[in-house]
Amino acid sequence: MLDAEFFCRWLAAVTALVDREADRLTELDSAIGDADHGSNLRRGFTAVRAALEKEPPATPGAVLTLAGRQLVSTVGGASGPLYGTLLRRTGKALGDDAEVTPAQLAEALRAGVAAVAQLGGAKAGDKTMLDALEPAVAALGDSTESFAAARVAAEQGALATVPLLARKGRASYLGERSIGHQDPGATSSALLVAALAETAE
Ligand code: ADP
Ligand code: MG
Ligand code: MG
Repeated sequence: MLDAEFFCRWLAAVTALVDREADRLTELDSAIGDADHGSNLRRGFTAVRAALEKEPPATPGAVLTLAGRQLVSTVGGASGPLYGTLLRRTGKALGDDAEVTPAQLAEALRAGVAAVAQLGGAKAGDKTMLDALEPAVAALGDSTESFAAARVAAEQGALATVPLLARKGRASYLGERSIGHQDPGATSSALLVAALAETAE
């Protein structure tokens, strides 16, 4: 079973990974965007960590909802509302239970990812965060061991964005010139999933 403390540890691990990889995320965004993805997420997850440390919520759902709200209010740019929606919608799907099963988390994350697709109007293959998130949630099963498979799927999904033509977000303004670069949002999504797998180890 996964409790609120597990979810706080997951988000702390995301914050640490984003911090470590911020320069790389910004570099990827400088090739096909406006060079702010790393700093956007660093600001957002620093606020998430501060909010969770100040008043740790009692349930997994409340942890994710609070984190999502922080991202929406602190991250300027497309990724704030999109990641905010992912975490808030996933949190809402988890409800008020004090502990959830890996299967419940898998189902909730699938609802969260569907909400991201709806908000951004993107689908798999459009060279966005969904190219990492969709294969990741498809790989999630009913045990924490499946988190490792989701991590691999997300990393492969992020790598597979390199040859794609961007159809959503800023990168789409580049047209054919977006080809040949890894999508920053898919790369950060793989970090989120990697942190989940690490937290369950
Ligand atoms: P901005 O583009 O506003 O500067 P960021 O640089 O923080 O925002 O985030 C860019 C990332 O957001 C992209 O790499 C892509 O993965 C993701 N993204 C942008 N638009 C969409 C969308 N409509 N649907 C899904 N993801 C998107
Ligand atoms: Mg950007
Ligand atoms: Mg921007």
